[in-house]
Amino acid sequence: MDEKTFIDYAMRAITRTGIFKRKFVHVARRFNVIKKDRELSDLAITNLVELYKGSPVFTETLKEVLTRDFDLDNAYMFLKSLINNERKLVTIERSEFSPMSREIVDKISHRLEVMAPERLDKLIRESVKARLLNESMTLVCLNCGWIGSIRNKDLPDKPKCPRCGSERLGALKIDEEKVRQVMERWREGRARSEDNELIEYINRTAELVSRYGKLAVLALSSRVRIDDIEEFLPKIGDIDKLVLVINELEKRELKRRFME
Ligand SMILES: [Zn+2]
Repeated sequence: MDEKTFIDYAMRAITRTGIFKRKFVHVARRFNVIKKDRELSDLAITNLVELYKGSPVFTETLKEVLTRDFDLDNAYMFLKSLINNERKLVTIERSEFSPMSREIVDKISHRLEVMAPERLDKLIRESVKARLLNESMTLVCLNCGWIGSIRNKDLPDKPKCPRCGSERLGALKIDEEKVRQVMERWREGRARSEDNELIEYINRTAELVSRYGKLAVLALSSRVRIDDIEEFLPKIGDIDKLVLVINELEKRELKRRFME
């Protein structure tokens, strides 16, 4: 399955969901396509969506749900891993829901559907925060060469090298072993051109970590580009603000990738 086929399937499925239809009504009101006080039946909304397919209202709705409610990036990677046999799908039949599926069914069947947008926002922010804290990063000490990986939530506010105490720690999403090889080649003076690029990147991340500590590591583990991180991090004081900004920038990044 290629990316295009996946997006086609996803679009068809998404435009049929309650989330999409509800959002469509909001956007249509904003665009004055339907009167503010007009109540619409589910069928009327479905017809309306069909009628306005491809219109600005439709596109705007799609943009909004794609950046807020669905995670196409990860869905695609997950499906790909199934196709490549990196993951296996196993069906287990039971007479009742497992605790996890219960949670999912509950959420889908009513909670998410009737949730106020502000609550949904809060839920999204909480999940972004949890994701960043659970991420593991490879840390490289630019002073003594120590390399290790630590889960973000176990880091102190001002991370230091466990060997020499330096705060000049590079933080990367790249595998520890790969970083070790690159650093080794670099020290021995046989760095390749892509190694130099990575070293340059490590230096930039170390600059951020030495100044902004754990917040920098959290930001670097997101999908936001380092240029953006360098720009906004000086203005950020705490993790909740960081999550807010990262959530916005990740949405923009996703939009850029899927809508252009
Ligand atoms: Zn060190």
